[in-house]
Amino acid sequence: MGESPVSRIIKAYRDPAIAKLICNRITELVKTLVKKEKKEIIKIMHVCGTHEHTITYYGIRDVLPETIKLIAGPGCPVCIVPAREIDEAVKIALEHDALVLSYGDMYRVPGSKMSLANARSMGGNVQVVYGFRDAVEKSRKTKGKAVFFAVGFETTQPTIASYVALNKIPPNMSILVSHRLTVPAVKYILKQPDIPLDGIIAPGHVSTITGAGAWSFIAEDCGLPVVVTGFEPIDVLLAVMDLLEMLVKGKPKIVNEYSRAVSWNGNVRAKEYILKVFKVVDADWRGIGVLPESGLALRETYSSIDARKIFNIRIDRWIDVKPGCRCPDIILGRAEPTDCPMFLRACTPEKPLGACMVSSEGTCAIWAKYGGYRRNVSIRDQ
Ligand code: SF4
Repeated sequence: MGESPVSRIIKAYRDPAIAKLICNRITELVKTLVKKEKKEIIKIMHVCGTHEHTITYYGIRDVLPETIKLIAGPGCPVCIVPAREIDEAVKIALEHDALVLSYGDMYRVPGSKMSLANARSMGGNVQVVYGFRDAVEKSRKTKGKAVFFAVGFETTQPTIASYVALNKIPPNMSILVSHRLTVPAVKYILKQPDIPLDGIIAPGHVSTITGAGAWSFIAEDCGLPVVVTGFEPIDVLLAVMDLLEMLVKGKPKIVNEYSRAVSWNGNVRAKEYILKVFKVVDADWRGIGVLPESGLALRETYSSIDARKIFNIRIDRWIDVKPGCRCPDIILGRAEPTDCPMFLRACTPEKPLGACMVSSEGTCAIWAKYGGYRRNVSIRDQ
């Protein structure tokens, strides 16, 4: 049997010889920029936990010139769910005799007092699911009420929206919506004067839904180069090279390096489902505050499956961030995990204090697991 196309692509996108050529070009471009623009540091932000995983796992920071700082932005969809919304899920599990269904990543993220995992250990009916279809199946097998804790960026929203729009969810199932949108978060970051950036690596997975066009504002309105890219190490290196080429030429634009998966308009059908079922609302991001038009809520037509309405839950006080935890700064790219004094001391993957140390997409968890902290260089010191 011949080699599959997927295996061919993976081999090509991990080829050390190609990586070396790209790194050489990156070094040349950095030298030009340093000479021409007198740049001492070039800050590139990505906004996807999987990009941070690729960068850290493959040691990409270590093969780039020190002038380049790859900064993790708001790329972890469970890290930004406010404690208030976790508290809602916990309350349903403990006080309403309903089955709460959660993704594994969300299950261990601390709320104000406890996580869903803690709620389960206290007798709450909580189960982990692999996806929405799994949640639907588990709800069907449950005699009482079932609630799906719907978190995630644009990638997880279409499946739920299509099930709801096509009336395919069982009558005992409702949804606790905590979805967030990545584009408004990036818009917010680009307005922060204390987070100066030179370029953006746009998230590949999210862009399969939004389309590359969703990121064109970065070049058009903010004058920064932006590259949509995939998740192999050479995808990331190509994105860095493209950003530097644009910086050298002084011509910021949007480049789609991930055209094998992302089109300009994205998944139009998926977006239609999302807009049919959800409305865009101002939404709270954990420890950061309310960002305009950055979240989703079920439309009135679907209020009969809205868990907040069914269970009439009200959380008046909540604690997003434990004293000393720097998760909000890490999510916004103002700090790195090593800037937190609790990193790998009081806060570890086994005993996480903050949300960023829980999920496989959380920057602290990734650095803890793969040693992204080896260089131990703080963004603040640059
Ligand atoms: S190391 Fe822990 S406490 Fe510190 S920022 Fe990360 S998650 Fe928060």
